[in-house]
Amino acid sequence: MLLVQGSLAVWAGAQSLRTRPPSKWVSAGILGVTLFASLMDRPASNIWAGGPVFLTAMSVGIGLASLELWLLEPGYSRMRIPMAVAAAGLALFYFCRFLAFVVDGQNGPIFTAAFGSAVTTMGTMMVLVVASFSMAALSNEQQTRALHAAASRDGLTGLLNRKAFLDLAAEQLAEHAFTPSTGALILADLDHFKTVNDTSGHAAGDVVLQLFAQACTEAVRTSDLVGRYGGEEFVILLPGATAQRAELIAEDISRRLASLPSRDGLQLPTASYGISIYDAGTSGAAGLIAAADQAMYKAKAMGRNRAAHSDDPR
Ligand code: GH3
Ligand code: MG
Ligand code: MG
Repeated sequence: MLLVQGSLAVWAGAQSLRTRPPSKWVSAGILGVTLFASLMDRPASNIWAGGPVFLTAMSVGIGLASLELWLLEPGYSRMRIPMAVAAAGLALFYFCRFLAFVVDGQNGPIFTAAFGSAVTTMGTMMVLVVASFSMAALSNEQQTRALHAAASRDGLTGLLNRKAFLDLAAEQLAEHAFTPSTGALILADLDHFKTVNDTSGHAAGDVVLQLFAQACTEAVRTSDLVGRYGGEEFVILLPGATAQRAELIAEDISRRLASLPSRDGLQLPTASYGISIYDAGTSGAAGLIAAADQAMYKAKAMGRNRAAHSDDPR
């Protein structure tokens, strides 16, 4: 039971690396079956009480852990493949033990020589040392990753926060120093958003911000950058896009927002967009955003719920 629980704990640990909750009921089921088989098999006189079930459960637990490690995203860690292979090897070893146990018997020459307690204890000790250090390292990497993600995301909408957006946009623009290309930036500002807060409350305003963020994300490609620039202002970088394409995307976002079913009498606001474009000569994101900001105020002055283009092509 303890050994099986150990292998299930390794599985749960591997699941947590994928930020998935452990499968408690499956684990409880495997443990329950192991306990039942052990009790049925004379626990007092038989040292291999429940042997076949115990060996299968070990193989399954460690095999599932291996699968879980394998399913981690490829760039996750250098440790991913070696760990998955080591776990698969151990699962296979337990599976072979199971076969030898069933075919050869617990006192048979093959089982005692190749799959008996002495061999297993040594193998398990080695794997335990490697596994516990690797798991600790993997877990550390995962925490660092989670902290990094939390530091670069806006807590309310899940979009990039201003700093992360500016960093990534700067990287994107810098790449163009070598491969000249163009793109567009949209600055979006919700119209009369203060009225939403004033009439429906701050919580409803928060929901509107989340819905707008979702509309933005759905309207662009995954390689585009979407960030929350401030309160009810959003910024989108579209590498390779023309001003016309940016305007179509702005219209698409507004259409998505308008097509949402209104809930609890909540009136969804419209949005105004400022669009600026960049080319190889553009030096930084700050000027690009300032130009889009000016254009956005132009759109506000023209009556809101529309997009306006920056006069300055840079
Ligand atoms: P305009 O059409 O000219 O842009 O008018 P507006 O009301 O949208 O602009 P204004 O700048 O007057 O108001 C922005 C409001 O956004 C004020 C502020 O309380 C609200 N706000 C900023 N951040 C949040 C937030 O995180 N949640 C909520 N609910 N409201 C926010
Ligand atoms: Mg504003
Ligand atoms: Mg506004």
